[in-house]
Amino acid sequence: GKKDGRGTFRVFKSAMDVELRARAQLEGALRAAIQSGEIEPFYQPVVSLPGRELIGVEVLARWRHPERGLLAPAQFIPIAEETGLIADLSYRLLRQACLDARDWPAHLQIAVNIAPQQFQDAWLCERILAILTETGLPPHRLEVEITETALVQDLEAARTTLTSLQNLGVRIALDDFGTGYSSLYHLRELKFDKLKIDRRYVDTITMSDERAKLVDAIIKLSASLGLVTTAEGIESDASLDWLAGQGCDFGQGYLFGAPMPKGEMDFLLTRSSEP
Ligand code: C2E
Ligand code: CA
Ligand code: CA
Ligand code: CA
Repeated sequence: GKKDGRGTFRVFKSAMDVELRARAQLEGALRAAIQSGEIEPFYQPVVSLPGRELIGVEVLARWRHPERGLLAPAQFIPIAEETGLIADLSYRLLRQACLDARDWPAHLQIAVNIAPQQFQDAWLCERILAILTETGLPPHRLEVEITETALVQDLEAARTTLTSLQNLGVRIALDDFGTGYSSLYHLRELKFDKLKIDRRYVDTITMSDERAKLVDAIIKLSASLGLVTTAEGIESDASLDWLAGQGCDFGQGYLFGAPMPKGEMDFLLTRSSEP
């Protein structure tokens, strides 16, 4: 009856209050965490195929939370994007990565993720250049990864930003390829340097012939447009061998290394430079 309905509404409303309060709390905590440097860059190896030589790293955000431990991006990047904190977060992450990279061999590439909203910022290129200048990282060592979501809002603004970054010497990778709805359109309209095949495709290549054919077609398409290709989420030797055989240029995945803190990356680099 009426009474039940009101009761349900009250329960629903207070549940919403709790959720809103929790979000506001998380936003405040995230803001403080960014300021105090609790958001830390982790680094995942990117290797060339078929030789498996380390050519660079992708920078992946982690929140070293004092009580909750190490938090994955899924637990805070969405809220950072909704609240606009993402810009501050990623500039600090980029700056730290540039500083960390000073300890590494000069050929090692640094790839950072840029959120769609950031790509609409007319000052993005200037901000990135300021960080490169301040830290001394040459622009040709930096790669920026964007998803197609960054391109749908304002294609002309995206084109301008993309071109000015490329004029600096920064390369642009189209991330998560195959998960957007208009992939071919963006490949035709914009000039990227690299295409990253999403791991949801890479996962499946050893499962069926049809799926493997699709990934093969993506590699060929990418090459025919003059782009290099990275396959993400390589976990097995079988996938690695197959991808290398199809001419995929670079690989990333647990087979070569999971995202790791700076100290572990240093250790890996010391070991790999030993005779
Ligand atoms: P992404 O850019 O597609 O990054 C690759 C994700 O795949 C990473 O997850 C990585 O840990 C995971 N991965 C790599 N190799 C393997 C593998 O062999 N198997 C499996 N199962 N997974 C693998 P992570 O670190 O949890 O990051 C998730 C997403 O969060 C990223 O996806 C990216 O979209 C976003 N993200 C991370 N850091 C940042 C950042 O600084 N800024 C922005 N805007 N987004 C970020
Ligand atoms: Ca990425
Ligand atoms: Ca990706
Ligand atoms: Ca090749």
